[in-house]
Amino acid sequence: MLTREQLQTLRDKLIEEKEKLLERYKKKEDTQARIEEEVKEPRDLEDIGQMTYTQELLDTLSSREFFIIKEIDHALNKMQGGTYGICEYCGEEIPLERLMALPWTRYHAHCAEKAEEEGIVPTYPAITFEATIPEEVELQREDITEA
Ligand SMILES: [Zn+2]
Repeated sequence: MLTREQLQTLRDKLIEEKEKLLERYKKKEDTQARIEEEVKEPRDLEDIGQMTYTQELLDTLSSREFFIIKEIDHALNKMQGGTYGICEYCGEEIPLERLMALPWTRYHAHCAEKAEEEGIVPTYPAITFEATIPEEVELQREDITEA
């Protein structure tokens, strides 16, 4: 069982990590705004290709980061419910070292592999996060493809 102190440390880590991710997301939104600005006045085809790539990269990073943010929320919920630190695959306690390294993990390392093989690892596709991909961006990207 985790002690109150250990739980407190892990909770702080989770919150700190979530804040960091949200901070990075805010910065990314600025970058996104800049890209959109540039797309309005494309200079030549090479530039457009470059911009599309950047946009795709941005989306990839966002979905990965939002996956972690969701996992962090899930972990914080489990802390409140008293089930934090219990492997969702086998029901046994996850070692403290693993929790310290990956505080939002749901599984033991070996259980995570099995869960992945069986396709039960939770995924949060970027599309469910309306805030990450505003519709205007999608439309703009179609414009680029057509050009
Ligand atoms: Zn396990």
